[in-house]
This record gives sequence, C-alpha cells and structure tokens, in this order.
Amino acid sequence: MERQAVNRAKEAFLSGRTRPLEFRLQQLHALQRMITEKETEICTSLKQDINRSQYDTPLLELIGIENEISLAIEKLTQWAAPRQVDRNILTVSDEVYVQPEPLGVVLIIGAWNYPWAVTLQPLVGAIAAGNAAVVKPSELSEYSSLLLRALLPRYLDKDLYPVVTGGVSETQELLRLRFDHIFYTGSSTVGKVVMEAAARHLTPVTLELGGKSPCYIDKNCDIRIACRRITWGKFVNCGQTCIAPDYILCEPCIQGRVVECIRQTLLEFYGADPKCSPDYGRIINQRHFSRIMSLMEGYTPVIGGQTDASQRYIAPTVLKDVPPHSRLMQEEIFGPLLPIVAVSDMDDAIRFVNEREKPLALYIFCSDKKATKKMIEETTSGGVTVNDVMMHYTLSSLPFGGVGQSGMGCYHGKHTFDQLSHQRACLIRSLGMESVNLSRYPPQDRRRARREVLGSLCFVCVFVCLFVSLFVC
Ligand code: NAD
Repeated sequence: MERQAVNRAKEAFLSGRTRPLEFRLQQLHALQRMITEKETEICTSLKQDINRSQYDTPLLELIGIENEISLAIEKLTQWAAPRQVDRNILTVSDEVYVQPEPLGVVLIIGAWNYPWAVTLQPLVGAIAAGNAAVVKPSELSEYSSLLLRALLPRYLDKDLYPVVTGGVSETQELLRLRFDHIFYTGSSTVGKVVMEAAARHLTPVTLELGGKSPCYIDKNCDIRIACRRITWGKFVNCGQTCIAPDYILCEPCIQGRVVECIRQTLLEFYGADPKCSPDYGRIINQRHFSRIMSLMEGYTPVIGGQTDASQRYIAPTVLKDVPPHSRLMQEEIFGPLLPIVAVSDMDDAIRFVNEREKPLALYIFCSDKKATKKMIEETTSGGVTVNDVMMHYTLSSLPFGGVGQSGMGCYHGKHTFDQLSHQRACLIRSLGMESVNLSRYPPQDRRRARREVLGSLCFVCVFVCLFVSLFVC
C-alpha cells in the first residue's frame, strides 16, 4: 500500500506535470478551496481529537495555512525564477544563474498536536517547489488523519499527493523507501529514527522537533501583561504546543506576583472550573495523560493540579520553586504544567539556558532594550520572541525551525520553497573565445606561453571595461 502510493507519486512526478508554474498554482488554489469549504469539518475533527475549541482551530491552524497558500500563489513566479549571480573574469560574457528546481518526491510526516498545520504547511512549499509529496499524518490525531485522507484526493492530484495513514509500522515501512527529501515534525527521539533511515538513502531531512522552551521574566517588566501572554501560550491546546513556554525563569522576589497574575488570567480565560470551559482542551491520549501525571508527582501545585482520567483532563497547573535538576525540568512537558524556576538575575538565566539543550524557542519579557539584546546575543534558540510568546511563528518572513536537538532546517513562506528545492548552479558558455581557455590545457611546457596570452587578454578586458565605464559616466 505504502510502496504503491510512493511509486505512483514517483511516476507522476517523472511525467513532468509539476514543472509548469500554472499547474502548481492550480493545485495551490485547490488546496485553498479545501480549507475554505471544509473549515467546519476540520474544526470538528480537532474537537474530537483534543477537544479543541471551534474558535481556536481557525486561529491556531487554518489562518496560518491560508496565509502560506496566498503568499505562495502571490510570489511563486518570483521564487521560481532563475537568480542571476556574479561572474568572474573567465565567464564575463557567459550566462550565470541559480535555478531552483524540484527535488522529486517529498515525504511529510506530521505530529498530532496541530495535525493540519504540520502537514499542510510543508505541503504548500512542496507543491510550490514542483515536488510530489506523500503525506503521513499522525495516527494519534485519528479524526484529523482520516479527514485529511478523505479530503486531499478530492481537491488535489491523487497520484502526486497521496495520504498514507497508519501507525508506527506504516511510518517505518515508508521510511524504508527512497525519497528525495523527508520533512518530519515530532519528537527528537523519533527524529533520530527518521534521520537514520534517511541516511541509508542519503536523503536530506528537515526535522521540526521540540524541547524545553524557556521563558524569562525580568523583574522590571509589566508582569501583569507578561503573565497574560504567557498564560495564553502555555495553556492553549492544553499545553500541547511545540513552542509553548515550557517553564518560567524569574527572580524569587517576583515569583509570588507572577503566580497571582497567572491565577487572575486563568480565571478570566477559563472561569473558576476550566473543566467546564469550552475553550480548554484535553490531553491527546491515555499514555500522554499518564506521562504528564507522573511529571507532577511529589509536587504541591500553587495553582490547579486537579485531574480527571476519564476525560484526560488536567487543569492548568503552576508549580513554583521547582529544583533545576528535577524530572520536570529534564524533558519537554508538552502538557498544561508550568514550573517556575528561581534565578538570581538575567545572567543566571542566561547561564541556565546555555547549560541545557538548544531550545526551539526562547521568550524574554523585559522592558530594557539593552538587556534584551544582551540576552539574545548570549543565548541561542530556533527562534526568539521578546515581550510575547509564539508570535514569531506567525511571520512567513521568519524561518521557523530548531537548532541542535530542537531540529534542523526551517520552513514557512519562501523558506519552505527553498528547503524543498534544489538550487541548481547553471553556467551557459559559448564556444567562442577559446584563447581564454588555453592556460588550462596540457601539455605543461606550453602553459607559460598560454598564460601570457591570457594575461594580455585580461589586460584587454580590464581596459575595455574601464573605457566603457568612463564613456557611460
Ligand atoms: P507522534 O507520536 O504523532 O509522532 C509523529 C510522527 O512520527 C507520526 O506520524 C508517527 O507515525 C511517527 N512515529 C512515531 N513513532 C515512530 C517510530 N518509532 N518510528 C517511525 N515513526 C514513528 O508525535 P510526537 O512525536 O508525540 O509529537 C510531539 C513532539 O513533536 C513534541 O516534542 C513537539 O514539541 C514536537 N512538535 C514539533 C513541532 C515543530 O514545528 N517543531 C510541531 C509540532 C510538534
């Protein structure tokens, strides 16, 4: 089944029908239509998968996909055009350019937390770049996966863009096959499995992984506003967001105020009992529910802590004075638990961040521009947002991706197009001016004489250039 889908995609790619830009534009328009016409069904699938609010799905996934499609439609001619580059003295009269060209068949493997965004956004770039793409959505977001499998062939070319559903064994079966690029979104553990499989065929990979994204709050910033933005970013999608602030770093003197501001915000967002709020989600499955529960063991939350296994409900939970070496601080939380770790000042926060794996995102809340720049300069992360969380993700102009353990490669907007294109180096020469080439031909003993010829030619060229520029001026 997997093999057949891949072979069909390969054949369809080799037929050459993705080469004309008109075809790519037509497919992008069809994808755009799919999102508009099927918005309600898509929102319902996410309600079933993670109890996502009907309002959050357009905001968190669909607007982003639509923007990416519109941008690709608007800019495709520009992105796909050959780019003229500098020539040297030996190629002064030649045509020299970089031509983006399709790679072939791309495998897109997605995670379950934003199942539409993590599969369709790379697909937009794959289509724009003229590739075929096999889409493998996550088995954990079951309703979304089945809907994607039903919808995509109704709108797009069936052979070029097949959807393969199934679990780990189906993904592993796909990974045994040969692709021209693998675009994977998920955990770092599986990212290593994907990279190992890709290495067997020397297939390039983009790995969009996760990790612990730190959030530093400076004592001199507007703590009320900071906590409002952090509370949204942490608890939206029930904490199951790759770029959610994983933990807070702040000085002990503001910890109490941070807790109180988060408490107030939670009340405002989800009411006295978040379990009854239509805006608060659920954990994807029992395994993740148990994993998050075990992270909480041994702590007394200052906010939340209530759970209901029958609904996979975990209340928005805040834990303070969390020791830096506790289990909670070793692995990505990926759930609605927000630990606060005390640091003595910004330098201590910088040290804390640098002692750990390079994060996918870093958040700094600080009103001192100089101090903010210092923290950006002295740390590293896939992306950084200052005085807000997650918003860098919304800009198609910014490359989205990780560094080190949080991933490799990037996408969004033109970055996806470039990531899924080959930048072909093109030099088109004429068969004239052969004397310029004499110095590189054997035999050795005639080389000197030829170099002299070349020297005089260069002199003539420089003279002509000078003359022309003087004349033009
Ligand atoms: P997941 O379990 O759904 O796995 C993702 C994909 O990998 C699925 O399609 C699945 O079939 C496949 N897979 C799982 N185990 C496999 C194995 N052993 N061999 C081969 N394939 C396998 O998703 P997940 O990994 O739980 O996703 C959560 C992680 O994804 C978090 O770490 C999160 O931070 C990260 N994430 C990152 C981004 C990003 O853009 N950087 C976005 C969303 C999620």
